[in-house]
Amino acid sequence: MTAVLSTSLPACVGADLEVPLVDGRRVVHADLDAAASAPPLQAVADHVAEVLPYYASVHRGAGYTSRVCTSLLESARDTVARFVGARGDDVVVFTRNTTDALALLARAVPGPVLTLDLEHHATLLAWRHTDHHVVTAAGTVRATVEALRAGVAAHRPALVAVTGASNVTGETLPLREIVELAHAAGARVAVDAAQLAPHRRVDLAAIGADYLALSGHKLYAPYGAGVLVGRRDWLDEAPAHLAGGGAVRSVAVVDGATDTAWLPAPQRHEGGTPNLLGAVALAAACRALEPVIDTAVPAHERDLADRLRAGLGAIPGVRLLSQFTDAPDRVAVVAFEVASLPAGLVAAALSAEHGIGVRDGRFCAHPLLARLTEGRDAVRASLGLASTAADVDRLVAAVAQLVARGP
Ligand code: PLP
Repeated sequence: MTAVLSTSLPACVGADLEVPLVDGRRVVHADLDAAASAPPLQAVADHVAEVLPYYASVHRGAGYTSRVCTSLLESARDTVARFVGARGDDVVVFTRNTTDALALLARAVPGPVLTLDLEHHATLLAWRHTDHHVVTAAGTVRATVEALRAGVAAHRPALVAVTGASNVTGETLPLREIVELAHAAGARVAVDAAQLAPHRRVDLAAIGADYLALSGHKLYAPYGAGVLVGRRDWLDEAPAHLAGGGAVRSVAVVDGATDTAWLPAPQRHEGGTPNLLGAVALAAACRALEPVIDTAVPAHERDLADRLRAGLGAIPGVRLLSQFTDAPDRVAVVAFEVASLPAGLVAAALSAEHGIGVRDGRFCAHPLLARLTEGRDAVRASLGLASTAADVDRLVAAVAQLVARGP
């Protein structure tokens, strides 16, 4: 069954890339780091190659290629909007990545912001110039939702910003319930979908969330493009995120200062020449994922993630990290500690001796790691469309071998 589903999954580039080992052998790279940056889809690479010959000014030139580029950018916007279930009056602003999208939202938010402490730093630090309150996550999802409810009552935030899926534990949050409790108190909700969107359908309208941020490079497109999607009013009133050409209706110099009439969102926040290739690549990834994101992607990854968790969990001295004992769903992101070995050593040995790419560190989630590992670095393996059962088995065998060898 899994094999049938897997064949219908879109292919990624670089699947047979060979890397050198310390002993001089070359092996096919097992990249188990999709949560950091996922390899682009072949369909994305093909589409970018098709678009490249039309390289011309976007939103500025009158020439044919320029008009093609403008229309490509705007149709990429529509494609992304459809993929994330944007409502008719939502705006899609192209940004550099999730971090940039949340930084834009931070300029727009008109009041206090509430987050959990398990967030990636992008969601934890975006609000540093606003009135920001952090709720400590509890040991269960249930208790954490209640802690959020209490935080909302205490701080009356304008915005609750939460991760869709943790980049450390892969654990997801009950977004619809969080939206309901926030909306009941008059707060809006922003979902950091950087880790959720590559693994599960994120439908803004169905969830009822007000904003969503994601990164193309985690969604099987190249680096450099992300989006903030959501309600227009705050974005229309916010100061321009990137002021410059294309963001204004008119500029005059009056009494030695600029007097500017800004365009509404999204143009208001997209000053300067846009990253057209990034935008069309992101849209191509959305198109390729559209038929598989509901069923085939979760099915493929669930089997592999179960295999990975079971395999690693059975190795003596390996501890998998989790925040919740009752997580409703986890995406294929697995962080772990090896009792006898520092994380940096494990990751370096996996790469140099086995050709396996993982990540080590505190994963830009220092407060969460402070709780889960007392601040020690951990190792993270994360799976995606390009991952196979053979990759997972190779990682598990390699970790078992490192543990058996000892420090
Ligand atoms: N949010 C989460 C949950 C992430 O995992 C990441 C990146 O790892 C980000 C935000 C930031 O994404 P980017 O580096 O693309 O801005």
